[in-house]
Amino acid sequence: MIQIDNVSKTFGGIQAVRGVSLEVAEGSITGLIGPNGAGKSTLFNMVAGLFPPSEGRVLLDGRDITGLPPHKLFHLGLVRTFQIPHEFSRMTVRENLMVVPPGQSGENLFNAWLRWGRVKQEDSAVLDKVDDVLDFLEITHVADELAGNLSGGQKKLLDLGRTMMTDARMVLLDEPGAGVNRTLLGKIREAIQRLNRERGYTFCVIEHDMDLISALCDPVHVMANGELIASGAMTELRRNEQVREAYLGG
Ligand code: ADP
Ligand code: MG
Repeated sequence: MIQIDNVSKTFGGIQAVRGVSLEVAEGSITGLIGPNGAGKSTLFNMVAGLFPPSEGRVLLDGRDITGLPPHKLFHLGLVRTFQIPHEFSRMTVRENLMVVPPGQSGENLFNAWLRWGRVKQEDSAVLDKVDDVLDFLEITHVADELAGNLSGGQKKLLDLGRTMMTDARMVLLDEPGAGVNRTLLGKIREAIQRLNRERGYTFCVIEHDMDLISALCDPVHVMANGELIASGAMTELRRNEQVREAYLGG
């Protein structure tokens, strides 16, 4: 579904990503791991359209999407989850789901507000979809809580919920497990797996929690120092000498 073709990124003198090629197969939950500073987020940001690569190409379903901005990618079904914008922390969970994010950068919040006003009044199909999302993620009991009052894990579930409100097919998740307690971590893992199996979402996941990666992702790609150093099932990667060294050395 996504093909990253020999992509590099230089910031000033720093080469953050060097000649990385990898694929995310349709229907997969693909993992991306590596020590801090490996270049994972930089690679994600290039795929998500936050900035263009210095070199190389990114394809979505065979179509060249290199350098397309987030709102264009959004319309092609590719989204990156993002923190709930500050402006929305004083809205309830249900209201947050009604605001279908028009892009991932927050640049278009005003349009989102306008649409929200409209949705609130008349679009019952959207209201039904909100109920479905709340039910699917098992967060109906906090539907009327302010988003700002949710726990870290509940916020991540709401992030997934906002993604479900869009027509995304390809979802980039940067550390869905960060700052989440054990109980909710299980729920997040389950939600991602069910979205994948039951609703056909393809995921690419950056994560530091190896248990979560092992439970969720196959294949897993490993980056270190800007380069792709190994790819495969987590069980194989655990025994890979280069991977062990990258983590020990990092
Ligand atoms: P990871 O997500 O794997 O921890 P990053 O992609 O965030 O790694 O960073 C890779 C390298 O690129 C690091 O050396 C980091 O300092 C550098 N880097 C990332 N973003 C920027 C930026 N906007 N400007 C300058 N250097 C950056
Ligand atoms: Mg990062």
